[in-house]
Amino acid sequence: MKEETERKEYLFLNIDAETMRELGFESFAEVPVDKIHFSTKVREMCADNKCGRYGTTWACPPGIGTFEECVARCKQYEKAYVFSTAYELEDSFDYEGMMEGHAKFSAASKELRKRLEGDFLMLSLEGCDNCKVCTYPDAPCRFPDKSLGSLEGYGIFVNDLAREAGIPYRKGAYSVSYFGAVFHTRRRDGSAGAEGCADARETEATV
Ligand code: SF4
Repeated sequence: MKEETERKEYLFLNIDAETMRELGFESFAEVPVDKIHFSTKVREMCADNKCGRYGTTWACPPGIGTFEECVARCKQYEKAYVFSTAYELEDSFDYEGMMEGHAKFSAASKELRKRLEGDFLMLSLEGCDNCKVCTYPDAPCRFPDKSLGSLEGYGIFVNDLAREAGIPYRKGAYSVSYFGAVFHTRRRDGSAGAEGCADARETEATV
């Protein structure tokens, strides 16, 4: 009898489309890191602290590192795999629905983080709720391998990222969409670090 070998088609690293759907992500696509728009303006929005997470965990600014450090971390990689899910709301003031979607997306992101193998940087929603009380700023992070930085904290314009990925930033008037990304495939030319930051400043100047 002929032996059949099952071959999975991976989207990125060890993750296939079935796994992404099983985790609850409805849209996903790859974006070259060079197409990502980094801006200090996003970091300034973080500093306004509308989400209440600024300066409360190692996963958000300023604990996450400077803008330049964050951009350089991302630019160590060539590709970003962007994922998103839209959650329905009763109306545009449905705060509970937004928080429910937020919690679901956060849990799905954590599960994806657990399953990932290899060399990557994963970003998702703001904040980190791995510990009841974060050690920030008095002691190092307890679980640096489990803590996920936020896209905004890294200075990424999420609506631009969505457009590059071909994923709607808003699916409808009564819905909220959340996004994350896995940076992978290390640059072979070693052009990360200082050069990556120079690119980011250039991008910033064109905003
Ligand atoms: S894992 Fe714990 S210590 Fe680290 S950022 Fe998250 S809440 Fe803070």
